[in-house]
Amino acid sequence: MTINTLPLSFEFFPPKNQDDISQLMVQHELLVPYGPRFFSITYGAGGSTRDRTTHIVMACHQRAGIPAVPHLSCVGDTRESLKRLLDTYRAAGISRIVALRGDRPQDGAKVAHEFYYASELVAFIRECYGDTFELIVGAYPEVHPESANASQDLINFKRKVDAGASAAITQYFYNPDAYEDFINRCQQQGITIPIYPGIMPITNHDRLVRFSARCGAEIPRWIEKRLLDYEHDAASLKAFGSEVVIQLCEKLMAMGAPGFHFYILNQAQPTLDILNRLGRPQRVTQAA
Ligand code: FAD
Repeated sequence: MTINTLPLSFEFFPPKNQDDISQLMVQHELLVPYGPRFFSITYGAGGSTRDRTTHIVMACHQRAGIPAVPHLSCVGDTRESLKRLLDTYRAAGISRIVALRGDRPQDGAKVAHEFYYASELVAFIRECYGDTFELIVGAYPEVHPESANASQDLINFKRKVDAGASAAITQYFYNPDAYEDFINRCQQQGITIPIYPGIMPITNHDRLVRFSARCGAEIPRWIEKRLLDYEHDAASLKAFGSEVVIQLCEKLMAMGAPGFHFYILNQAQPTLDILNRLGRPQRVTQAA
């Protein structure tokens, strides 16, 4: 697969106010020419962004002919509320869902939930909706932070595939060996669904360190130290960050990655810089 034909998807989070929603639509427009398969919209655990997520999904769906894909997490949600949302999406012609467990509250507060794991959400959607939705799940080449070990985490990943997941998107990582090792171990387990690397552009040292600590992504020491060199030089930090991610993408393509999912964080430019430097043409025909 070359960069010209590589399937891409882009992830947004739902903004809080109208100005930011208008800005999001501008970012959407900037990304459309790069021919993504879809734009996905995150969902706050416990339904904390339920209305905002639905609003953005509906506003983006089929805008410029490109589908929107809602994320849906099950922690803190009930079967009834999930079903209401899925009915709405089905009626709107949404055909894919990113099905997740969701992050438990960081303050340790107890949340009521009818499902403990994403595999149960996948099974529930398959049971209630058959093949209406393509179900995409999360994958963790560097191992999910709550997992005791890599082999148990892989067994748990396989539960989601066996329950009916059709594709996966990974947590972001900067070590391509972790992805290669994960893919090899998946193949040994007979897992054949496409596993799209999640790509996080690097634009800010502190934010990256904070995010990574929370989600268990490792920032290689040399990258973190180089980023610190540019603490007071945002332009050089961005140039270095782009270079790191471009090299990562090139290595992943050489490994046969089936496509990329970019964490846009509602700012298109860092991703556009990476795609332009990788030579992605604009106005590509959308991959199915
Ligand atoms: P699961 O697959 O359920 O795994 C969670 C943990 O439980 C893992 O450690 C796993 O090994 C373990 N486990 C699974 N099944 C079992 C079992 N049967 N017995 C014992 N242990 C088990 N979060 C949001 O809140 N909103 C979003 O929109 C969102 N989008 C995301 C998009 C992507 C592409 C990714 C990779 C993550 C996203 N997240 C989002 C974060 C995600 O919710 C967290 O990483 C969460 O901690 C785990 O979700 P999961 O679906 O991978 O959980």
